[in-house]
Amino acid sequence: MFMRVDQLQANLPPPKKADPNAAAALQELLGGKYGEMSTLGNYMFQSFNFRSKDKLRPFYSLVASITAEELGHVELVSNGVAMVANGPDKANGDKGDGGDISGAPFADMKEIRSAASFLSHAGGAVPVDSNGVSWNQGFVTSTGNVVVDLLHNFHLECGARLHKLRVYETVSDATSREVCGYLLVRGSVHAHAYALALKKITGVDLDKFLPTPNINLSKIPECQKYLDEGSHRRLYTFSPNDYREMAGIWGNGETALPGDPPGELEVVDGHPDGGKIHQLTGIPSAFTPDYAPEEMFEIASKLYKASR
Ligand code: MN
Ligand code: MN
Repeated sequence: MFMRVDQLQANLPPPKKADPNAAAALQELLGGKYGEMSTLGNYMFQSFNFRSKDKLRPFYSLVASITAEELGHVELVSNGVAMVANGPDKANGDKGDGGDISGAPFADMKEIRSAASFLSHAGGAVPVDSNGVSWNQGFVTSTGNVVVDLLHNFHLECGARLHKLRVYETVSDATSREVCGYLLVRGSVHAHAYALALKKITGVDLDKFLPTPNINLSKIPECQKYLDEGSHRRLYTFSPNDYREMAGIWGNGETALPGDPPGELEVVDGHPDGGKIHQLTGIPSAFTPDYAPEEMFEIASKLYKASR
């Protein structure tokens, strides 16, 4: 089962302006072929369908714990998309009735790459790619063969790093770049982990051809603090008590990839220190949240007090 922590896996800097087209580019990292919906879907169903879980516990634990991390990546990218699409929170965002809308206050929105992102979703994220095409289950591979599944996962993480770098190269705002920088580091960890798992089973040294693609993380400023704190050496269990068995694969004398800061790989119980979740204030003229906002806030405030 899953537990939920009300934080993001990384701290995202608040956006300086609204940039719906940058948000559309970020959508590729969510609902694209190599996006977070795909990594989540692959590892989640592989872990559900995993055969001989007790006998293959280290491999099962690896796929199961990375599943939980990917769910948090879906959350991180989705928050990034909404932040960049909407821009800075407005001080009066939650107040008023939106005023006079006869002058087409959102005329610009018909020109953006994904008009539906505003028209149907108020600048929120949904599981589509950068062209607004739906993510689909065809991106999920769960063969029942552990080696084939792990090999697929290795390919998926390498592909994911490729599209993260390309998205990084198309955006210049700090929020989008932070999403890309953090996920490039974590994608490198996952590619490395699946390579090591395959090496333990088959003896083939897949980790020798990492990093693929050959992205030197030390050249990407947004990756630095994560490398400094050792994120590239860590896998998290995302659980209070379970999944430690993956330390036989991630650990066990194995070290960081050449090119990254050196050190031993380690499994960490629980989850990384998270970042806060953005408020995303209302837009009265676009009917969010609508239905007498002041009254809703007052009701929520009373309910909050009653819960303490
Ligand atoms: Mn991911
Ligand atoms: Mn991953």
